[in-house]
Amino acid sequence: MSKGNKTLTMIKPDAVENNNIGGILKMINEAGFRINAMKYTRLTQAQASQFYAVHKERPFYNDLVSFMTSGPIVAAILEKDNAVEDFRKLIGATNPANAEAGTIRKVYAESIERNAVHGSDSDDNARIEGDFFFSSLERS
Ligand code: GDP
Repeated sequence: MSKGNKTLTMIKPDAVENNNIGGILKMINEAGFRINAMKYTRLTQAQASQFYAVHKERPFYNDLVSFMTSGPIVAAILEKDNAVEDFRKLIGATNPANAEAGTIRKVYAESIERNAVHGSDSDDNARIEGDFFFSSLERS
């Protein structure tokens, strides 16, 4: 099965607050991803709850929703061959303590929760998450 060429990222509230939007976008571009759509926004409680609904039984769900609504984020659709897998490699492990050198989370994450970036974990979720943030008019 051929792999999709798009993924969805968010630059999370910790990274926006720490003025790391530019540094993270530079790493994304240098790794060969093109930006297909992008917006600076702040999630409502309802939106963050919906985005992370898959985690609603997890003990960290309420904290995660509260963190993700604590400040603005940047959402973007990124384009590259094998986008989902290659972007997961670029961002590194969920817990920055386990992230490899040179990954975005190794450089910019503060903790397992405040971990700087989101990346879709499958082609199906990349589509669902892209549609969550962007209308067809907002994509190139
Ligand atoms: P990801 O795909 O690497 O983002 O990781 P997950 O889908 O497992 O988790 C979603 C997000 O929830 C992570 O990016 C973290 O922000 C947060 N998270 C995951 N595991 C934990 C945890 O054990 N504790 C807390 N507080 N947050 C977590």
